[in-house]
Amino acid sequence: MSFSSLGLSAALVKAVEAQQYTKPYPIQQEAIPAMLQGKDILGLAQTGSGKTAGYVLPILEMLQRKSPNQNRAVPVLVLVPTRELAVQVNEVLRAFAKELPRQVKSMAVFGGVSINPQMMKLHGTDVLIATPGRLLDLVEHKAVQLSEVEVLVLDEADKMLNLGFKEEVEKILSLLPSRRQNALFSATLHEEVAFIVADMLHNPVKIKI
Ligand code: AMP
Repeated sequence: MSFSSLGLSAALVKAVEAQQYTKPYPIQQEAIPAMLQGKDILGLAQTGSGKTAGYVLPILEMLQRKSPNQNRAVPVLVLVPTRELAVQVNEVLRAFAKELPRQVKSMAVFGGVSINPQMMKLHGTDVLIATPGRLLDLVEHKAVQLSEVEVLVLDEADKMLNLGFKEEVEKILSLLPSRRQNALFSATLHEEVAFIVADMLHNPVKIKI
């Protein structure tokens, strides 16, 4: 099993090799082709499983075929529970995106820091990686629009709910167009996660690592 056999183009395969990834991890073997086919995904996987590349690589592949974003409507939204994870996902994405033919603009936004610099930089963002509270603040300030989101990723959904972000997540879901692709990753599938799963995912491909 190789990354190219999963449907990634030569440019992405080269980016993967540059990161010293020689063989796709199990979650990547299942998540990458499913996401490239436009399917929803339910990934039951822990940190360390390689889930980040499992959704970042197909997102980058899909963006290669899209023209650059010219406005404040983001096409790809990644929701994460913490600032640390937001920064980490953005670093993984940037490392892969570095030498791709079509430039990808990504940004990590989170609370606990001033909102103004984030507002000024958001224009033209392809992939927004956000914690829920700060994302809603940015929407309220009209710094970002969620009405054209095509792909939504909810990473560490169980942690998100354990931290008390249920209402924010539901509010965000209500602002998204109903026709979109969804991927949800969680280490556990407790009752509250199952509720969000039912609300958010349509016939998901289930991946359990
Ligand atoms: P994650 O679960 O996404 O946080 O990834 C865990 C670690 O595995 C990170 O340090 C990645 O760089 C590494 N990793 C992910 N996929 C691969 C792969 N296919 N080959 C080698 N390392 C990988």
